[in-house]
Amino acid sequence: MGFNDGRKIEGVYTAAVVGSERVTPHMVRVTFGGEDLTRLPRRGFDHWFRLFLPRPDGAVDFSALPAKFNTAGYLKYLRLKADVRPPVRNYTVRNHRPEAGEIDVDFVAHGTTGVAGPWAQQAQPGEQIALIDQGRGFDPLADASGVFLVGDESALPALAGILRDLDRKRPGLAIIEIPDDADRQPLDPPPGFEVRWLARANPHDRPGQLALNAVQDHTPPEPATVQAYLAGEQRLVAESRRHLVSAGVPKSRIAFTGYWKAPN
Ligand SMILES: Cc1cc2nc3c(=O)[nH]c(=O)nc-3n(C[C@H](O)[C@H](O)[C@H](O)COP(=O)(O)OP(=O)(O)OC[C@H]3O[C@@H](n4cnc5c(N)ncnc54)[C@H](O)[C@@H]3O)c2cc1C
Repeated sequence: MGFNDGRKIEGVYTAAVVGSERVTPHMVRVTFGGEDLTRLPRRGFDHWFRLFLPRPDGAVDFSALPAKFNTAGYLKYLRLKADVRPPVRNYTVRNHRPEAGEIDVDFVAHGTTGVAGPWAQQAQPGEQIALIDQGRGFDPLADASGVFLVGDESALPALAGILRDLDRKRPGLAIIEIPDDADRQPLDPPPGFEVRWLARANPHDRPGQLALNAVQDHTPPEPATVQAYLAGEQRLVAESRRHLVSAGVPKSRIAFTGYWKAPN
């Protein structure tokens, strides 16, 4: 399974906000629950989905959503009338409790611009959402000599899930950039797996730059057989991939996706 395989997965799930809490200064955890979520497969790792939110006027109608978010499904979504179409963004399952029909989702509280980040900071119990399962971007390679993970705060839920679900014998290094030291979260990496947190010293620093510097200073010890996963701000992801490829990591062993774009 990889990032593009989600297009083949079918199924719209509806749920409601059960509660929310600010887990760190820049992260809000929203718990969603409902009967439908007892059917959502537990895929672990960086399991992600398309999240459909109430419209800004509070209106909710998920009845006309496509069953899949492939090209045809996306076109169907775009053809919904603008005044009824629910906003959509991409998010990761942070914790999954299938038997309770609940998932936790960690939203970066990145200010007042946009839709999902601001919505999460005000989310009220009972608010309705829908999601379309997209599977996993990370597929553990049995022959990986080590795992190299890179991300910013938006990828922290994905990196946390990968570290939690990795084979306990897998060595590796995770480079995680966060806005502030207080945004660290407890993680469950395999024993001996190094997690390097990098906190931006200044709120005006370009997101991703610290992590990119650390990536560019690092050459994986066995580049031909490492497995790499890069997620977060677009430039961090693109430049990290460029560095790894020039260090000898085969493109086929690098899963990557730009999550969002910082202003230049
Ligand atoms: C597979 C996948 C999984 C993801 N999982 C998560 C997740 O679990 N948690 C999470 O928080 N994000 C996650 N993201 C990233 C999230 O989809 C984007 O950050 C999205 O842009 C947020 O939507 P929004 O409505 O808040 O802002 P938008 O309307 O998309 O953007 C509005 C403005 O906010 C800025 N912005 C957007 N995101 C951020 C950010 N993180 N930090 C600073 N500025 C930002 C944009 O540059 C823009 O100027 C994931 C993305 C992908 C592709």
